[in-house]
Amino acid sequence: MNQLDALMAAIGAAPALPGARCRGRSHLFDGGPAGEDDEIRAARIGQALGLCHRCPALADCRRWHDALPVSQRPVGVVAGRVNTTADRGQPPRRVVAS
Ligand code: SF4
Repeated sequence: MNQLDALMAAIGAAPALPGARCRGRSHLFDGGPAGEDDEIRAARIGQALGLCHRCPALADCRRWHDALPVSQRPVGVVAGRVNTTADRGQPPRRVVAS
């Protein structure tokens, strides 16, 4: 289950998003792994934003996203927007050295 499906299931509202470009591409849209390289992160987010902006479900997705309280918005790229843990009042992810 990708991030978008999980969030929609969690809030009990699953708008139909026919043609959603994020399906099967959660690796681009999710918050990303801890310690992700800045350039890789920027490229990944750029790809996800590009898919959102060409997505036939963007208007419905954005309406759903914007109606959510900020604290409940999924972290990552959703509806052509980038949500971070800081937006939700959570501390940023910690980078753990290996
Ligand atoms: S606008 Fe973006 S997040 Fe929303 S359904 Fe389309 S691709 Fe997925």
